[in-house]
Amino acid sequence: MTLDATGKMQFLYALRSRGVTDGRVLSAMEKIDRALFVKGLFSDRAYEDMPLPIGSGQTISQPSIVGIMTQALQISPRDKVLEVGTGSGYQAAILSQLARRVYTIDRYRRLVSDAQAIFDSLDLTNITALTGDGCFGLIKQQPFDRILVTAAAEDPPSPLLEQLRIGGIMVLPVGQSDTVQSLIRVTRLETGFDYEELRPVRFVPLVEGLGD
Ligand code: SAH
Repeated sequence: MTLDATGKMQFLYALRSRGVTDGRVLSAMEKIDRALFVKGLFSDRAYEDMPLPIGSGQTISQPSIVGIMTQALQISPRDKVLEVGTGSGYQAAILSQLARRVYTIDRYRRLVSDAQAIFDSLDLTNITALTGDGCFGLIKQQPFDRILVTAAAEDPPSPLLEQLRIGGIMVLPVGQSDTVQSLIRVTRLETGFDYEELRPVRFVPLVEGLGD
């Protein structure tokens, strides 16, 4: 299913009413068709504001949360961004519209190769998708202007804090259980880090090591 003009307006209206107000984020989400990233059984629900299963026990995030996290990152066009948790690739595709370069990493090889095939079909050449344990970040490409983690950890992984440029921003869900998590924004200052709590969220856990 692809969206007609009315469907598109409804999708954007729902995003706005849930707090996605940044014009650049909304146009990126208008341009990147979420249905391409939702396969099989659930594809006809791609424009509903809910997370959906994508295989390997993982989910594509709810569109309004994708919008809110992207907005919270305050990306500028020259930024180099790291995303931990490629999943379907949808969030990375949105980031690719706003940033100069996006590195995205997932512990499941299959998710990375499926996402890469979609990036290729959309000619999103500024995304590099890699299989690996994102808890360690991506040493070779550091420092990053922005880091987005789309799986929940108890605390921000310290390698990610270290790979953030001074003045850089990281957005991630943190929490000690599957049910109670907060989305936080970390800003790296010259002298340390500033932490800001944004809202309650619910994400799959950040898991160490590679998937099957
Ligand atoms: N951003 C995705 C949704 C991510 S779901 C989208 O737009 O569809 C969370 C993802 O984080 C899952 O795919 C999971 O495999 C991945 N993940 C969990 N722990 C990880 C780790 N240590 N390193 C890399 N990816 C991880």
